[in-house]
Amino acid sequence: MAASPLPVATIVSYHAHVYFDGPDERALALRLREEIAARFPVAMGRVHDRLVGPHARPMYQVSFAVPVFATLIPWLMLNRDGLSILIHPNTAAERDDHLERAFWLGAPLPILHADDLAEENEPQGANPVNTTPHLEP
Ligand code: ZN
Repeated sequence: MAASPLPVATIVSYHAHVYFDGPDERALALRLREEIAARFPVAMGRVHDRLVGPHARPMYQVSFAVPVFATLIPWLMLNRDGLSILIHPNTAAERDDHLERAFWLGAPLPILHADDLAEENEPQGANPVNTTPHLEP
């Protein structure tokens, strides 16, 4: 922990990274992607079939504002279909965000190239919402 506790307002947004490995998990992940988009105001990222950044499997990113956490994360707990999901905050320290402040739903995976993640950076707010929720979570 920092010298004094960080206020919750340090967190400007969150990411959920939904991982998949092989065609069966890919199909589950894409279905989950549609189900999320139908229920939550998020910025749904594109599907990365090749490894990108610190992520050890193909995945897609779900970027969301702080208030969405309270319903999206419980919904993912119930509906992740066996997939591994990394949840991390976005603050001004992306390395800590991924290594120290993150948690996993399902089996954890390694964080790759952690040295490439900045110790200090401009905090990244949620990307613009690109979903049109029409179902209750
Ligand atoms: Zn992320």
